[in-house]
Amino acid sequence: MVHTQSQVPQPLGVIAAMPVEGEAIESALSEPVAHFVLGRQVISGLLEGHQVLLAYGGVGKVNAALAVAALANAGAAGVVMVGVAGAIAPGVGVGDAVVATDLVQHDVDVTAFNNPPGYFRAGLAGGSADPDLSDRLVMAARSIGAVVHRGCIASGDQFIASPEKSEAIADQFGAIAVEMEGAAAAHACRQIGLPLAVLRWISDAADDQAMIDFQEFLDQVTELDLKVVQALVAK
Ligand code: SAH
Repeated sequence: MVHTQSQVPQPLGVIAAMPVEGEAIESALSEPVAHFVLGRQVISGLLEGHQVLLAYGGVGKVNAALAVAALANAGAAGVVMVGVAGAIAPGVGVGDAVVATDLVQHDVDVTAFNNPPGYFRAGLAGGSADPDLSDRLVMAARSIGAVVHRGCIASGDQFIASPEKSEAIADQFGAIAVEMEGAAAAHACRQIGLPLAVLRWISDAADDQAMIDFQEFLDQVTELDLKVVQALVAK
């Protein structure tokens, strides 16, 4: 019997917006080599024997799109984005993981020209995550004991710290988590033709407490990101 099994793309591009989100992955790379591509630091190396290209993208959508471009330039065959996000759906708690099914730029507003919120005339400002790579990321997160939710992730150039804003984004887009990079990476990956999966650890509830909860959670994200990417690429 021929058994065809798709694999995690290699080299696998990994984007961390903030240094704290990528530091443990960087430390775990064997044979690390630092490159400077399109103005970003990209570190190549091996994780569990799998070729990885780690990019520190920076915060926000433009940075995320540039990070995808840098990884594509460096030869990545697919992209995984890790990091933190705010929860905007009931039942999604701090410390849980959210794996994106699709991603939308919630701050795209061309409604004056009769486009729906989150849409340019050319189409959705965002894109779908790759189903196979996302399934693998879900399995990886479960294998390290995470509670995993799947759904839409909304991204915008805003730190959301109000129940009203969270509710509006959840209602408008059916999103379950909010952050500042994923949908831009989805847009860039769609245009370049790279499979993308996004996993976010919930750091806060995008409410009045968000800033404090977010900062407290950052201690944990370094190791969680490493563990989940390790589990993803482990044979
Ligand atoms: N410390 C940074 C700001 C971080 S912004 C500085 O001083 O510039 C928050 C980061 O965490 C972003 O990368 C975003 O993707 C994610 N994030 C976590 N919770 C969020 C929330 N409630 N709203 C928006 N982004 C959030």
